[in-house]
Amino acid sequence: MTAPICCGKPTRLTTGAEVYPKRPDLRANPRYLCDECGAHVGCHPGTTKAVGTPAGPELRAARSKLHDQMFDPLWKTAAESGGYADTTSRQRKRIRQKARGRVYAFLAARMGLTTEECHIGHFDIEQCRAAWLALQGRTYAEIRAWAKSKEGIRT
Ligand SMILES: [Zn+2]
Repeated sequence: MTAPICCGKPTRLTTGAEVYPKRPDLRANPRYLCDECGAHVGCHPGTTKAVGTPAGPELRAARSKLHDQMFDPLWKTAAESGGYADTTSRQRKRIRQKARGRVYAFLAARMGLTTEECHIGHFDIEQCRAAWLALQGRTYAEIRAWAKSKEGIRT
């Protein structure tokens, strides 16, 4: 897998043992580290494929805040957002997967990005702020209604 570029050079593949010496739980996880500026990025589970672009402390914090406090709660609670009758756990899982895509599609539309470009792991600080504002106060029911109207137009 090709290493992400930072400071004009490919980053170096290392592990959590180097980047997070105080986190034994992350010791074995591959990470790409920039030796110039210290930015780093993790990988998709079980792979050495980076989840996004390397980031320093401020950007990592902005991305995780956006994920944990805004983006993830929207799709993770999709099955309980109303509009779905009694569901099995397998159905709820499928609803959540679909919801994740819809929240990203909504975000992409609001931010003027394509869905390929719209990944929090690739956002800079300004995009994290813009995404926060785009999702603030939204419910999944609203995003679902928006998505269904778009899906209706396409077919
Ligand atoms: Zn760098």
